[in-house]
Amino acid sequence: MSAATRSRTPDRLCAEAVDLARAAAEEAAAPGVVGEHEGLVSEGDRVVTHFFECKELGYRGWRWAVTVARASRAKIVTVDEAVLLPGPDAVLAPEWVPWSERLRPGDMGPGDLLPTDAEDLRLEPGYSGEDELPPNSALSEEFADLAEAEDAEVTPGAPAHLTAPARGSIAAVAEELGMRRARVLSRYGLHSAADRWEEAFGAKTPMAQAAPASCVTCGFLVPIGGSLGQAFGVCANEFSPADGRVVSLAYGCGGHSEAAVMPKPPQPAPPVIDETRVDPFPLRPSPDSGSVPAVEDASSAELGHS
Ligand code: SF4
Repeated sequence: MSAATRSRTPDRLCAEAVDLARAAAEEAAAPGVVGEHEGLVSEGDRVVTHFFECKELGYRGWRWAVTVARASRAKIVTVDEAVLLPGPDAVLAPEWVPWSERLRPGDMGPGDLLPTDAEDLRLEPGYSGEDELPPNSALSEEFADLAEAEDAEVTPGAPAHLTAPARGSIAAVAEELGMRRARVLSRYGLHSAADRWEEAFGAKTPMAQAAPASCVTCGFLVPIGGSLGQAFGVCANEFSPADGRVVSLAYGCGGHSEAAVMPKPPQPAPPVIDETRVDPFPLRPSPDSGSVPAVEDASSAELGHS
């Protein structure tokens, strides 16, 4: 008979030791919280676990599990252990997830330090790995020691401990060429950044779909260097939703520099009745010209008429 077959049939004496199991559960639990016997399972030859309902508030669905056993050819059953275990309907906390997997974009706040893994797929060596790494590199042992001793104060504004590389070393030459970075973006890092940016400010966004023209022809687009510059730039239009953000050249918005021309202010129509000018209105002859009437303003004329 196989072990699996033997273990399915509970040992009779162990199965009958319900009172012994209950006493063990009540000894381990607080008084009055061990409820009904809810069944048993065979754990193996002459080893049985009895389950009792847990009536403690806050442990809904949990069960007291008491394992009893007896030796071969022995009639006395003894207690192995008594523990509280979750049943199939127990309310359980979600599975624990390490912080590095819980981290989301935007979680980092002022003063936080986010270490990059030595095997981070987004990065690759910036220059030949034959040389000694700068001490601030995540790959350097010195940096690992420093991180372990982490009580060290982080001086604001002092980005790691940049020491001058040895003369003639590859790091020194790389520094002279302006390339002294232990790691740079890998192809994977470039592609994942491009995917994120394309999703946020790319051609498929509703804003771009409704735009009169795309960023590639916009005067507010600031070009960026490197290979990503072939597909992206930075928007510098303060009225655009993408101001200060990396935008795809195929993105666009209503603030496109050439999309709409500012209309000229409309010219006011000439007044139909000119009340700003006094019209001459002669009532009597002028003394100089004999029969020519004298000139009075329109208001006098009106008064005289009335
Ligand atoms: S203003 Fe609009 S069209 Fe111009 S660069 Fe910015 S997002 Fe692109």
